[in-house]
Amino acid sequence: MAQGTINVQTENIFPIIKQFLYSDQEIFLRELVSNAVDATQKLKTLSNLGELKGDIGDTQMEVKLDEKKKTLTFSDKGIGMTGEEVEKYINQIAFSGAEEFVEKYKDKASVIGHFGLGFYSSFMVADKVEIFTKSYKEGAKAVKWECDGSPNFTLEENDQRKGRGTDIVLHISDDAKEYLAEGKIRELLDKYCKFMAVPIKFGTKEINDPDFTPKKIKDKEGKETTEPHKQITVDNIVNNPNPAWTKAPVDLKEDDYNSFYRELYPMNFDQPLFNIHLNVDYPFNLTGILYFPKLKNNLEVQKDKIQLYSNQVFVTDSVEGIVPDFLTLLHGVIDSPDIPLNVSRSYLQSDKNVKKISNYISKKVADKLNDLFKKDRKAFEEKWDDIKIFIEYGILSDEKFAEKAQKFALYKTTDGKYYTIEEYKKEIKKAQTDKNKKVVVLYTSNADDQFTYIAAAKDRGYSVLVMNTPLTAHLVGKLEQADNDFSFSRVDGDVIDNLIQKEEEIPSKLSEADENALKPVIEEVLPKESFTVNFVSLSEKDQPMTITQAEFMRRMKDMSAIGGGGMMGMGNLPESYELKVNGNHPLISKILAEKNDKKKKEMTKQAADLALLSQNLLKGEALSDFIKRSVKLI
Ligand code: ADP
Repeated sequence: MAQGTINVQTENIFPIIKQFLYSDQEIFLRELVSNAVDATQKLKTLSNLGELKGDIGDTQMEVKLDEKKKTLTFSDKGIGMTGEEVEKYINQIAFSGAEEFVEKYKDKASVIGHFGLGFYSSFMVADKVEIFTKSYKEGAKAVKWECDGSPNFTLEENDQRKGRGTDIVLHISDDAKEYLAEGKIRELLDKYCKFMAVPIKFGTKEINDPDFTPKKIKDKEGKETTEPHKQITVDNIVNNPNPAWTKAPVDLKEDDYNSFYRELYPMNFDQPLFNIHLNVDYPFNLTGILYFPKLKNNLEVQKDKIQLYSNQVFVTDSVEGIVPDFLTLLHGVIDSPDIPLNVSRSYLQSDKNVKKISNYISKKVADKLNDLFKKDRKAFEEKWDDIKIFIEYGILSDEKFAEKAQKFALYKTTDGKYYTIEEYKKEIKKAQTDKNKKVVVLYTSNADDQFTYIAAAKDRGYSVLVMNTPLTAHLVGKLEQADNDFSFSRVDGDVIDNLIQKEEEIPSKLSEADENALKPVIEEVLPKESFTVNFVSLSEKDQPMTITQAEFMRRMKDMSAIGGGGMMGMGNLPESYELKVNGNHPLISKILAEKNDKKKKEMTKQAADLALLSQNLLKGEALSDFIKRSVKLI
């Protein structure tokens, strides 16, 4: 028997390990299982290289819980270790690795995934750890290593471990009793080990015997029934060692992708809209599958997050800084051993490799969208309303993506037709070019609320786009910047003839004196101070009065509402509306000619209320007064 002291360089790291990142102590389980998986895979590699005699047999590993003895055991059939190897790998390398890790990170909380602490993370939950191990090497003697969380250890020959492999036995400490609950271990295995590359057994389960066919029998009353199915006890395997993303895309069908989605998110019963299989080995290694989920509301999005793996070992599901921001709304997995794992988030965000990976993912997503668009435009259009928010976000936050998206980003008209921006420009150029040679794009944020304005535009043969996401104001600005020919206006931004000004103008029937006489009458009936009154000369068929909100002010308000665009802190901009009076409408002439002051005011009020009503601005008492007055007039 050998006794010794682990060579402590700096200070005793055990107390630090014990309280290290307390909230994340559960990752000890991932560290020990992944060590067992590594040892098993090394064995497989040796066998493939022909360095082992005979068949390696079953390589399943096992996690065993003994509540009475208060132990948790990790048992593998991997390469095992000789006494010298335990001395080298556990006492020296692993220890100094853990020591270095603790030194580096003991004050920092934001370590991604916390890889690096390795085997010694077991002391976060155990006050004694035993290793029983036997190397695959011929003639190797089985050994036992034991350490009680002080730098003292013992190493001795011990034949408890019969076959090749390793048992790591944790004697769970009193303050970590939660890890003696079966449910807890099951939960952690599911969280961290769900896709590890070697089958992991945890307990047993009862299933229907597949070799048993129930016969028809008669029950006590003589009625015919089927006999109960025969149950058998089998190993409970908690993981899927061959998850979909590790397979070649040609070997997978749509159904396989959908069932993998359910494997990832068992609580989500929706089908994803489509998926993107990522697969690259140069200049970095990355595989994965991303899904476009169907969005119901914005809260739903954050529930199922993208999961990050490193060689099938779960790292984290907060991937900010790794995946481009706009894609954090997607679901799925990314597996890359090339993402530095035990570093802080801020480091990660500036890491060159991570940037490359992020650009690659963004490009891949754009290419896939373009493929889908080209292959089946109709199907793509059907999905558009669900995916447009991702794509708009991408266009706004990623220049390269924006460039690619020009080919497939769609714009939908109020008639339900979809166009790319180029197609749309061609479509409306003739009718909607104004006297300044700008192509004026009309859009609505709410086709119901802005119905009268849309109708006025359509009357003149103009087209109106539906742009109704929280990002619309930013997107419109971006599109105008990208193409100087364009100018965007919301349909209720002004009366339609002002939005698209043509060379020829309709002459006004009102003189300046008429306007000066009318203006105070109208101002008097308007509810708020935030209204200004102006005269326009439109056709007789247009509305007598229209309420508009200037494009510029409204966009500023919209942008400040969702933040960004340099508009921070402008959320409290006052509302400002314009009332446009159509001087050519017969009703206006009638009001002007009316001699009775009371009648004049009533007519004006009625006309102004109608305009307010069509902007959804007539509420409460004003609305109730309007209804009473209208009934009286009828
Ligand atoms: P890492 O896994 O990052 O190398 P660890 O501290 O987890 O660091 O483990 C240190 C070393 O101990 C491993 O590299 C391996 O050589 C050895 N080891 C740990 N667990 C096992 C095991 N179950 N079977 C065989 N060797 C193991």
